[in-house]
Formats: sequence, C-alpha cells, structure tokens
Amino acid sequence: MRHLAILGSTGSIGTQTLEVVDNNEDMKVVSLAAGSNIDLVEQQIRKYHPEVVCIYQEDKARELARRVTDETVSVLYGMDGLIACATAASADVVVAAVVGMIGIRPVIEAIRCGKDIAFANKETLVTAGHIIMPLIREYQVLLTPVDSEHAAIFQCLNGEHHGEIAKILLTASGGPFRGRKKEELASVTVEDALRHPNWTMGRKITIDSSTMVNKGLEVMEARWLFDVDYDHIQVVIQPQSVIHSMVQFQDGAVIAQMGTPDMKLPIQYAMFYPKRAFLGGERLKFEQLQSIHFAKPNPALRGIELASEAFRRGGSMTTVMNAANEYAVAKFLNREIFFTDIYRWIEYAMDHHSVIQNPSLEEILKTEQETYTLLEKDRNIIK
Ligand code: NDP
Ligand code: MG
Repeated sequence: MRHLAILGSTGSIGTQTLEVVDNNEDMKVVSLAAGSNIDLVEQQIRKYHPEVVCIYQEDKARELARRVTDETVSVLYGMDGLIACATAASADVVVAAVVGMIGIRPVIEAIRCGKDIAFANKETLVTAGHIIMPLIREYQVLLTPVDSEHAAIFQCLNGEHHGEIAKILLTASGGPFRGRKKEELASVTVEDALRHPNWTMGRKITIDSSTMVNKGLEVMEARWLFDVDYDHIQVVIQPQSVIHSMVQFQDGAVIAQMGTPDMKLPIQYAMFYPKRAFLGGERLKFEQLQSIHFAKPNPALRGIELASEAFRRGGSMTTVMNAANEYAVAKFLNREIFFTDIYRWIEYAMDHHSVIQNPSLEEILKTEQETYTLLEKDRNIIK
C-alpha cells in the first residue's frame, strides 16, 4: 500500500495522479494541497477522505473548513499548511506537483521526514537542486521523476552504469511555434501560445513550452537528476512526442523510451518503480505512425539559450531566471506584456543580478523576492 501526499491536487498532474489512484487499489491519499480551488478540493475530500488538506489562501481555507465539518479532515493554510501536508506522518510518497518555486520548502521538509518524492515540480530543482540532491542522498529517500522526459531517461538508465553515459538526448515537441521566425513571434496571442500540439497541461508550463523555457528548465532538471554535465545534454526536437527521451552510451548505443503522450504513465511509474503496473489507454501503432521525425531547436525561441546562460553564470542566477520567467509568464497570461517580452524580462533580471555562489535556502527565497521587486519597479523601463 502506497500512502500519498499530493501537493497540487487540483492541477493537471494532481488530477491525473488521482486518476492513477482510482485505477489502483493499493494506493491511499492521506493529504492534499492546492492554491485556492476549494470547489475541487471539497469534491476530492468527499471522495478520498484525506487526513489533512492545505489551501494556500487563508480565506479560501476557512471557507472550505466551514463546508466540510461533516468530514474528519484538518484544513490548513499557508506555507505551514503546505509543509504539514508534505510531512503528514502516514504519507510515504509525496507527489510534488505544485507549480513554481513555492514547492521548495515542502519538498525539502518532506525529504527530511524520510518521504519518497514523485517529482514533477521542476522549478524547485532548477533553483535548489544543489540543496535537494544531497538531501536525497543523506536521507536515503527515493526521488522518481514525473516529468515525461526525465521519466523516460530514468527508464533508459535502468540497470546501466552512470560512467557509461555519453549523452542525454532530451526530446521536445517544439511547441506551437516550432517553425516560427523571430518577426512572427511578436504578435502571437495568449490563445496561440496555449495551443500545445501534443500535451494538455497547466497554463504556466504550456506557455513555458511555447517559449522553450520549459526545455531550458528541463536541461537543468536533467543535470541535477542524473548528475550529468550540462554540456552532455542535447535537446532534440521530436514533433510527434512519440520518443519521450533517449540516452546515448559510450559504445554508441542509443536507448529510447517511447509511447503515446499520456502523463499517467510517468506518474504511475514514479509511484510503482521498480515495478510496472497495467495502465489502460492507447498504444503506439507503428504501422500507422510510419515515420518519426527529428529537428534542431528553433533559435528564435530563446528559452534554452537563456537557461543555458543562467546555468553558466551559476549560483543564484538560475533562481533569477526562473523567478523572472514565473513573473513574466503571469503578466503575459494577464495580457499585460507581449510574448517576446518574456525573454526581455528574463534577460533584464539576469543582467541586474550579482551572482551568489552556492546560495542557501534563505538566499534563494530572498533572490526570488528581489527579482519580483526589480521587475515590478522597472516594468515601464523594460517595456
Ligand atoms: P497546474 O497549473 O495545472 O496546477 C498547479 C497546482 O498547484 C494546482 O493544484 C494549484 O492549485 C497548485 N498551487 C498553485 N499555487 C499553490 C500554492 N501557493 N500552494 C499550494 N498549491 C498551489 O500545473 P501542472 O499540473 O501543469 O504542473 C505542476 C508542476 O508539474 C509544474 O512544476 C510543471 O512544470 C510540472 N509538470 C507538469 C506537466 C504536465 O503535464 N502538466 C508535465 C511535466 C511537469 P489551484 O488549482 O488551487 O490554483
Ligand atoms: Mg517535460
């Protein structure tokens, strides 16, 4: 029996995790956390009967508590509530599926309490990988990737020796603007950017996929998860999302993990590893597929380049890059800035930051706030 804490239970990964729970009798939900969507959390409480839930927004949490007095559940709020859900005594695996850097502290506390982590929340690793990965080793917990590319790489590395990896081939669909020229990007709308060709995901990651910032974050994520040099990770465009990623070894062999695009596979695998459980759904039909295409990333989509620059400058710069992106994406979704401004805002924040090497958790969180303050203050200059 796996006892789950699901952080981000109302989101794309969270709800698909609950679908996996529905299909597996040996899983029980012990805690749930979300930002503000109390209607859905109320339904989830009535269906899964968790011991504790957190709604980050205090007023919403109080309203939910009033609604569920007939259930034996504690309703908490804020960061303390999120941490309480992540460290619930009866949980043995935490599904880290909140969006953004807000996941850092709950993930760290969960590891310190000896919980295994099924990991989707890439922003946390990008900004605090140098803290989280040593903790994983120190507390000897299992971290299994949920991000589809990293789950693929994880499967390709099963039974292999780390020293024999030549490079990681991280695949990307290329998003909705795969073939667009720089001049064509200026006028794209929020709706255009939200139209991902292969995956249905939360809004923030869908925008990140359209800018290729998602792939830039994923290169950093892979660097931390698999302890491979940044230069040994290559992004390959695979528009159909049939190959979820590949690993090339010293002898030239390439191992790929393939399948239809369905996040329930990596979610379920992360939960049952090293076993595989049955999962319904479509199977790849090679006779219909006929060919698999590859291409180079489109340089007009600057997400990989900016992430690479942040990683090269090191230390707290990845926090600045990530925080500036989180901030700019929210502004773009709110129609306050243009699509290509996202790159300009990230660059502006990076250009105005002096790197702190090996930042502590407090320094990371302070850098995040300073980045938001800078962008808010200078928003008219940047525009
Ligand atoms: P969604 O936007 O769909 O969901 C985000 C979840 O986080 C919601 O449950 C939301 O609650 C919750 N949340 C937001 N802010 C807070 C907060 N302050 N406290 C507690 N909970 C909060 O995102 P996704 O599911 O798409 O993505 C989640 C993470 O997984 C991201 O890091 C993303 O990069 C990663 N990921 C997602 C993939 C996908 O297919 N969706 C694929 C690979 C990685 P509420 O609904 O109440 O706002
Ligand atoms: Mg991914």
